[in-house]
Amino acid sequence: MLDANSEPVIRVSNLKRRFRRAEALDGVSLEVPRGCVYGLVGENGAGKTTLIKHILGALKPQYGTVQVFGKDPVREAVAVLADIGYLSEGRDMPGWMTVRQLMRYTAAFYPKWDDAFAQQLLSDFELDPGQKVRHLSRGKRALAGLLIALAHRPELLVLDEPSAGLDPIVRKDILGAIVRTVADEGRTVFFSSHLLDEIERVSDYVTVLSKGRVVVSERLDALKDGHSRLVIRFDTALDRAPDLPGAIRVTGAANEWTVLCNGRRDEVVAAAQAINGTLVEEGPAPFDDIFIAYARARK
Ligand code: ATP
Repeated sequence: MLDANSEPVIRVSNLKRRFRRAEALDGVSLEVPRGCVYGLVGENGAGKTTLIKHILGALKPQYGTVQVFGKDPVREAVAVLADIGYLSEGRDMPGWMTVRQLMRYTAAFYPKWDDAFAQQLLSDFELDPGQKVRHLSRGKRALAGLLIALAHRPELLVLDEPSAGLDPIVRKDILGAIVRTVADEGRTVFFSSHLLDEIERVSDYVTVLSKGRVVVSERLDALKDGHSRLVIRFDTALDRAPDLPGAIRVTGAANEWTVLCNGRRDEVVAAAQAINGTLVEEGPAPFDDIFIAYARARK
């Protein structure tokens, strides 16, 4: 359950990280409340994995701070990592181990390992315990990684591109169900994805990163309620997008233009009318349109 009063599970303040050529994170701040599913979305190279590495304490902030469970994940790595389940983007696991060995090996690190739950996941994921990790398909490897991330029932589950390599049914049915169950139990899921439908389906909160900066960070329902999509028809064909104050993005051609706006709907309609435009359609903005409007705004 969401508890607005409790201390955030993750608190990142003005985090900056520069690699030799890239400004990977440029003043990122966010707070992840306990018991929610928090989606981090951004195009390739936006800084998602770099942010996750800071949350795990694998990178030390060059500037700004990161706290997980109220602790510094670099200085208090053991205490923080004991309560995190992590699925890496590269799914790095010892390839020579069988799935059974991998489970036994991982269990040794976690006093809270729940073997009955691990066996249940093994069967739900249709994993062969005798198969070597290196012989698993990409999808099954992701599921093996998910199993060992989940089976110690961590307070925080961190998933870096969890659905990469999963087929659509597994992605929708298994991953979605797991992520929601973890949050319903009062634990927290922080996951990165570039799949907008997935973020939209399971997240309570969403942060959009673009070139190392947070461009949107909000509850998903508030984000969707706050934006609308208008279709405007003009008496004469326009050879370029009309300038409509209050519009976040304008796309279309000739007489018909689609406008995404954020709360300033009346202003957009009035500006369109002033140049002989008529509102012909109005509805909620699709999440992918909202994402594109913000992620592309910094190009
Ligand atoms: P993707 O979806 O492609 O994994 P991402 O959003 O996870 O992308 P990051 O991997 O965090 O993005 O990379 C952000 C930027 O930092 C990129 O420009 C990347 O090339 C750069 N970068 C990341 N790690 C390093 C590193 N170890 N050395 C140099 N540059 C790096």
